[in-house]
Amino acid sequence: MSESLIYLDGEFVPKSKAVVSVFDHGFLYGDGIFEGIRCYSGNVFCLHEHIVRLYESAKSILLNIPLNPEEMSAAVVETLQVNRMSDAYIRLIVSRGVGNLGLDPSSCAKPTVIIIAEPLNLFSAELYEAGLKIVTVPTRRNIPDALNPKIKSLNYLNNILVKMEAARAGCAEALMLNQDGYVCEGSGDNVFLVKNGKIVTPPTYLGALEGITRNLVIELCAELGIPCEEKPFTRHDVYVADEVFLTGTAAEMIPVIEVDGRQIGKGQPGELTRRLTEAFRGVTSTRGTRVPL
Ligand code: PMP
Repeated sequence: MSESLIYLDGEFVPKSKAVVSVFDHGFLYGDGIFEGIRCYSGNVFCLHEHIVRLYESAKSILLNIPLNPEEMSAAVVETLQVNRMSDAYIRLIVSRGVGNLGLDPSSCAKPTVIIIAEPLNLFSAELYEAGLKIVTVPTRRNIPDALNPKIKSLNYLNNILVKMEAARAGCAEALMLNQDGYVCEGSGDNVFLVKNGKIVTPPTYLGALEGITRNLVIELCAELGIPCEEKPFTRHDVYVADEVFLTGTAAEMIPVIEVDGRQIGKGQPGELTRRLTEAFRGVTSTRGTRVPL
């Protein structure tokens, strides 16, 4: 198979030659932002929502992206076209760019823009069927007053620590609590629970990323007439939930069947999780932007 092509500052470069400077502040300091997007059957799922979030992250960190949102969307579509990909995970990165060793980004002349399209299966197909066993971990979500998780910044060390702690506990994913002990989110996904026929997810002010999949699931609940609310909950509420599931672009929708050694519900994916997953799969190839291949 020939090498995939990476969009790098307006050019398409073979993967092995797609490199950035060691003086790029994205590399030196995690100074930059990103998006993870999926393309399903030639449909870039929720592209508009991802582009909006990217430009909001950029605004928040005072980063002027050298393309406008329409040009950026077109570049995502073109990356899929040149790679002849109709199903892919897309990583869109905008770093502060190349500067000197100081923290001050004023030495960075222009942001670096990268778009990667690759196949991705975050969890095995069996886990989507059987459900995940997860844990809560000691590392807390960084507080929104320090670095707001609504900014999808390149600084993902908080999430990486959580992922490592999950792996050490023998799990593929974990939940992190916020500073006040409320359940916040997974290392790279949002969390929902079901109790007595009602769906609950933490409000994003607790410190979770405002996930695009999360927002879509809330919308799907409304369409299906399933009550859903954003409300803080604790680890105890998770243990005694009827169902738990995670959502994210990479994770998609995945059931959770055990948390910290406590079986969730009947220890298998629950009914509402199944219904919502079906509804979610039903819209993945229709809501978004078509790629003319
Ligand atoms: N939380 C975190 C920390 C994430 O990195 C992600 C993945 N972007 C999510 C939640 C899920 O967000 P989305 O549904 O927009 O992919």
